[in-house]
Amino acid sequence: MDLETPIEAVPRIGAAYARKLKKLGLETVQDLLFYFPHRYENLSQITPVKEVKEKTKVCLQGKITEISSHPTFRHRLTITEALFQDGTGTLKVVWFNQPYLAEELLNQEVYLAGRIKRGKEGIYLSSPVQEKVKKGEESLHLARLVPIYPETKGLTSRWLRYIIKSLLPVKKQLKDPLPPEIRKKYKLLSLSLAIDAIHFPQSLAKAEKARARFAFEELFILQLQALQSKMKNASQSASAIPIDIPLVQKFVQSLDFQLTPSQKKAAWQILKDLAKSQPMSRLLEGDVGSGKTVVAAMAVLNTAHAKYQAALMVPTSVLAQQHFQTFSRLFQGFRLKIGLLTNEASRLNRRSLPPEELLEKLATGKVDFLIGTHSLIQNRVQFSNLALVIIDEQHRFGVRQRARLKKVSGQKTVPHFLSLTATPIPRTLALTLYGDLDLSLLTEVPANRLPVQTKIIGPGEKSASYQFIRQEAKARHQAFIVCPRIESEEEAVKTVKAEYKKLSREIFPELKIGLLHGRLKPAEKEKVIRDFQAHRLQILVSTSVIEVGIDIPRATVMMIEGAERFGLAQLHQLRGRVGRSSRQSFCFLSTEFTTANRRLRALVNCQDGFELAEKDLELRGPGDIYGASQWGIPDLAMANLNNLPLIEKTRQVAKELLAKNPELQNLPLLRQKLKLLQKTTHLE
Ligand code: ADP
Ligand code: MG
Repeated sequence: MDLETPIEAVPRIGAAYARKLKKLGLETVQDLLFYFPHRYENLSQITPVKEVKEKTKVCLQGKITEISSHPTFRHRLTITEALFQDGTGTLKVVWFNQPYLAEELLNQEVYLAGRIKRGKEGIYLSSPVQEKVKKGEESLHLARLVPIYPETKGLTSRWLRYIIKSLLPVKKQLKDPLPPEIRKKYKLLSLSLAIDAIHFPQSLAKAEKARARFAFEELFILQLQALQSKMKNASQSASAIPIDIPLVQKFVQSLDFQLTPSQKKAAWQILKDLAKSQPMSRLLEGDVGSGKTVVAAMAVLNTAHAKYQAALMVPTSVLAQQHFQTFSRLFQGFRLKIGLLTNEASRLNRRSLPPEELLEKLATGKVDFLIGTHSLIQNRVQFSNLALVIIDEQHRFGVRQRARLKKVSGQKTVPHFLSLTATPIPRTLALTLYGDLDLSLLTEVPANRLPVQTKIIGPGEKSASYQFIRQEAKARHQAFIVCPRIESEEEAVKTVKAEYKKLSREIFPELKIGLLHGRLKPAEKEKVIRDFQAHRLQILVSTSVIEVGIDIPRATVMMIEGAERFGLAQLHQLRGRVGRSSRQSFCFLSTEFTTANRRLRALVNCQDGFELAEKDLELRGPGDIYGASQWGIPDLAMANLNNLPLIEKTRQVAKELLAKNPELQNLPLLRQKLKLLQKTTHLE
C-alpha cells in the first residue's frame, strides 16, 4: 500500500464506505492521512470506580464480570445490564438496544466512557462507549485524547479513527515539502511526527504543535503563491499610459464637487501605476458612497485619451445601465465612445445597436470604453487594444470570472487591473488572499454627508413611517422600499408585486411608484431606473437587485422590509443607497419581531463599514464574508486567516526564500505543492 493507493483498494474500506469518503473529496490513502480531526475529546483520565460521582462523565478501565440482555415489553427496548469491576469497586452498567454486547464483553477487560446516573437502586453508568483493552497496544477510542473528525452521514469518527490508525505506517513515504532550515529555524515538527500528533496526540500541546506546523505550511505556500504571482505580474509588460495632467485637471474642474483628499491620493496612485510598463494590480477599497466611481473615471479618461481601450465589468445589468449613464454624464465634454453590453442591452453612446455591430466596432478600435456585465467575458468579445480593466463590486464576482477578464485581451501586453470594493479587507486577508494586489483606500466619505439615521421599525410603527415617507416625497425627496430577501426569485417577484400593489393602491395612491425586480424585461428595467433617476417616480419598490452600486442622490429614505432576513453586509450596502448627498437620510429596518436581532442593532449603532465588517467577521467567520470559501484554500490556512502574527511571519519567510531562490530550485516538493495549490484553488 502506498500514498497514491485509491481508497477502494484499502482492504477494510469497501465500496459503500469508499463512496462516502469520495463525497468528502477523499480519494487516496494520502488524502485520508491529511483528513484532520477538528477537535479532541479528552478521555485520558481514568477514574477509579470508588471515586465516580453522579452526573459526571467518566472513563473507566476494568473487567465486565456479569452481563445479560433482556427485552422490556413496555418500551420495546432491549436492555443490556452488566457489572463492572476495577479493583476499587463494582459498578452497574446499562446499554439500550445493543444485545450483541452481552456475548462480546463477558469477562473482557474494557475501557468504558459515559455518564454516571442515579436509578432506583443507586448509581450506574449509562450507555457508555466501550473498547476492549488489548495487551501491549494503545487504546484507540477511549482512555486517551480522542480525535473527533468532521463527520458526514454514515461515517463516524470511530470508523475514521480505526481506518486512519491502520494507514498511519504509510506516512513513512511522505516527503516533507518544508525546507529543513526553515523547519529548524521556526521549530516546526517534521511532517511525519506532525501527522502522528495531529491524529493521535499524546497531549493537547502536541496536537497544537502539529496544527501549528500545518497552518504554517499552508500559509507559507499561499504566501509563496501570492509573491510569485506578484513577481510574475511585474515581469509582464503592459501599455504605459502617460499621465495627461491638463486633461485630469480639466476633468476635476468639470465636477460639481471637490474631490476628497483620499480620492485625490488614490487617483494619483492609480495614474502613476498606469504610467508604468508593468501591469497595475490594484484594489480600490472605500465604504459605500465614498466616491469610487469618479476615481475610476479618471483612470478611464486618461486611458482613452492615450488611444487605448478600457473596460468596466459590474455584477448586475441594472448597475451596468446606471454606470453607463453616469459615465456618459461625467465624460460629457470629452468625446468618448462609450459602449454598453449586457445580455439585455447593447448601445454605443446614444444609439442602440445589435451586439454584433458593437463587437465589430470594439474589435476595430471604435469603442473607447466598454461597460458591461458578465457578458464582457464571453469568447466573442475581442478588444483591439485593451489597456485597462476595472471590476466594480469585485466581491460579487467569482474569482475565476475576475481572472478571465484579466486575460480577455489576447494581446501581447497585459491590461492594467483595478478592482473596486466596499468590503473592507482586513490586513490579514490583504496579506494572503489579496497578497498580490496593491491597495488604495478611500478613508473618508465626502464632507457634505450626514450620517444616515437608522431606526428599527416594529409592526406598530409602520403607518408612522409611511407618513414620514409621504412628507419626504412632499419635500421632493425619494424613497426605496425593499422587500425581504427570499431564496427563490419566483417568490421574491411574487412578494414584491404584492407589496407594490398594496403600496400603490392603498397606502400611497397619490404618489408615483415604480416596481423593480430581476424578472422584468430589460427595457422595462431600464425605464424604471431612468424614471426614478429623473424623479418621475417618488418611490421605488424593489427586490434586493438594487443592493449594489445604485446611486440616486435625491433618495433619502431606505425602508427594508423583513430586515431580519438580510445579512449585515447586505444591510449596510442597502443603507448605502441613501445618504449620498448633503440631504439628511433615513434607513428604516422593518421587522415583525419585537426583539430586534444583533445584526439590526449593530447597524443602528454603527455607520462605519469597517467596524461592521469586523462585527460580521465575529458573527460569521471569514469563509462567508470575503467569499474566502470559494477560493478553495486549505482548511488550516482558512482557520488561520485572522492570525496576523502567523501571516506576517510566513510572508517574511516566503520573501526571504524567494529572494535567495526565486525559482525554488532544489525544492521540487515545494514547487509541486504550489502547482497543486494553483490547481485546487481559484487564486489568480
Ligand atoms: P461608491 O464608492 O459607493 O461607488 P459613488 O462613486 O457611486 O460611490 O459615489 C456616490 C455619490 O457621491 C455619487 O453621486 C457621486 O457623484 C458623489 N460624489 C463622489 N465624490 C464626491 C465628492 N468628493 N464630493 C461630493 N460628492 C461626491
Ligand atoms: Mg459604486
